Amino acid sequence: MANGLPSGGMSRRYEDLSGPEIGSAISPTSILLLPIGAVEQHGPHLPMSVDHVIAHETADAVVAECGDELDVWQLPTMSISKSNEHAWAPGTLYLSPETMLAVLRDIGRSVASTGAERLVLLNGHGGNTTHLGTALRELRLEIGLKTFLMHPSLPPAYGGTSTEDELGMGIHGGLNETSVFMHLRPGQVDLTKAERKVPEALAENRHVKFGGSVSFGWLSNDFDPDGYIGDPTGASAELGKTLFEQAVAGLSEAMAEVKTFEFGR
Ligand SMILES: [Zn+2]
Repeated sequence: MANGLPSGGMSRRYEDLSGPEIGSAISPTSILLLPIGAVEQHGPHLPMSVDHVIAHETADAVVAECGDELDVWQLPTMSISKSNEHAWAPGTLYLSPETMLAVLRDIGRSVASTGAERLVLLNGHGGNTTHLGTALRELRLEIGLKTFLMHPSLPPAYGGTSTEDELGMGIHGGLNETSVFMHLRPGQVDLTKAERKVPEALAENRHVKFGGSVSFGWLSNDFDPDGYIGDPTGASAELGKTLFEQAVAGLSEAMAEVKTFEFGR
């Protein structure tokens, strides 16, 4: 699959429609899918594009898988988002939380004019997670959209899993993320620059830890000046392919539930 074209050949990219086609192609039962990535430092072994590429490619694959069947329209990937935990790193492109919420509000208002009622945020950047949860409610309240948030993989800092070897803390640039990126962009990873960066002391805590009962504010250089958290040294494209395909299958299944979801008692 290339260029977002499903096997049938018809594009499911929102921006490929002509203006007048919007009215006939998109209906109240359509699903609009907004991939959200980031351009931020991921340590010396990865380019800044990781979250952008993962969000974008995952959305492409999910839409190829279920777009025709579920009438999904893929919005342009929003690739600059709330990466302020990396504000210390020169070159990180980031929006403030206030700006990010305002941008999502404007996008929500714009897409609501198509008549679609369901907007799915597909988030490839863990640092957006809590903020996007806020956005779901704002868009529901202010614009009346039914709003949903899904992840290629739920970030470990927000209840997702990472490997035991990483003590559950493969948060940023770790084994899984590096592997998925190796699968998607094989020539762009330099594992000779990767090291194990797991904050071992944090794992001793019962409550105050990633995914623990007590959350804490953190910046990506709070644990190590290199700014990545996890152990990418064993990453492989093979593992990445498995994880990517699992994610696409899981998200496509979830999209079917989004399609029919109704509030009710
Ligand atoms: Zn990332």
